[in-house]
Amino acid sequence: MKKYISIFALLSVIISCKPEKKKEADDNKKQEVTVYTHRHYKSDQELFAGFEKETGIKVNVVNAKADELIQKMSLEGDKSPADVLITVDAGRLVRAKDKGLLQSATSEFLDKTIPSHLKDADNNWFGLTKRARVIVYNPEKVKAEDLSTYEDLANEKWKDKLLIRSSGNIYNQSLLASVIANLGEEKATEWTTNVFKNLARTPKGNDRDQVKAVVAGEGNVAVVNTYYIGKLLNSKNNEEVKAGKGIKIFFPNQQDRGTHINISGAGVAKHAPNKENAIKFIEFLASKKAQKIFAESNYEYPVNTEVEMSDLLKSWGTFKEDTLSLTKLGKNNKKAVMVFDKVGWK
Ligand code: FE
Repeated sequence: MKKYISIFALLSVIISCKPEKKKEADDNKKQEVTVYTHRHYKSDQELFAGFEKETGIKVNVVNAKADELIQKMSLEGDKSPADVLITVDAGRLVRAKDKGLLQSATSEFLDKTIPSHLKDADNNWFGLTKRARVIVYNPEKVKAEDLSTYEDLANEKWKDKLLIRSSGNIYNQSLLASVIANLGEEKATEWTTNVFKNLARTPKGNDRDQVKAVVAGEGNVAVVNTYYIGKLLNSKNNEEVKAGKGIKIFFPNQQDRGTHINISGAGVAKHAPNKENAIKFIEFLASKKAQKIFAESNYEYPVNTEVEMSDLLKSWGTFKEDTLSLTKLGKNNKKAVMVFDKVGWK
């Protein structure tokens, strides 16, 4: 019995010492934040370096496609080193939340800075930049008055004149998800069928390739994200600059719901070893300074409304954006993929 007690006493000493030891270890631990990101833009390297400089917190970057990162986090479970997940669309953030891979992050700054339709209702993710999916057109062949809505792209007048990338791309899936939210699945299927019939070629290439094809005369109009126009105009490649200069931008649905937007955003990982640093990191990306860099070096629209837009973004004009909750895009993603399959749009 005596032996029993002494072991018990010893154990309780060890247990009571443990928090002290752990705290000490935490204090000595190098400050870091591990970011799983799908973003593939130069602006981000600049931003991560800026965060390290300002806070002394080292940023570890793991770069891959969002689906791969989500799978990696699932497999790693509570051993995952991920603190933050960044994607280039809301759909994947909704998916990560549904899989239980994110957690709520409380931040007064994010609460007041990011409009409610651009973030998760439970603070599992936050939009950081906006991208508008617009129509671009060849001004030698099309007048702005000929354009109006996404719905109108299903009109026969665009037969063999429309360029848009493959349906496997999340930007198109989210656009269709928004059409489903607005028109219902049946009408959205009809729309997709007719848009598909109007394509000038079998979908191929990225958004930039669609712009180049318009300028090369393969079609007259294309559907692309705005920031790619900025990238073309600022490219070191003359052909790309020529493509960027050869088109004009049209913001669809200005008389009704507004132009479809998506976000690039971030959430705190469920098992984040450095949750506090993760929140600090996301707050930094939503700060005026960082938002300015997103706008100036990646031509994305800031979510922080206090940030002035870059001259290039201003030159495209202001527009009414669709304020459909982005969660809806994630929820409708499966339906969108099914509609594309049904129509045969690969
Ligand atoms: Fe992109």
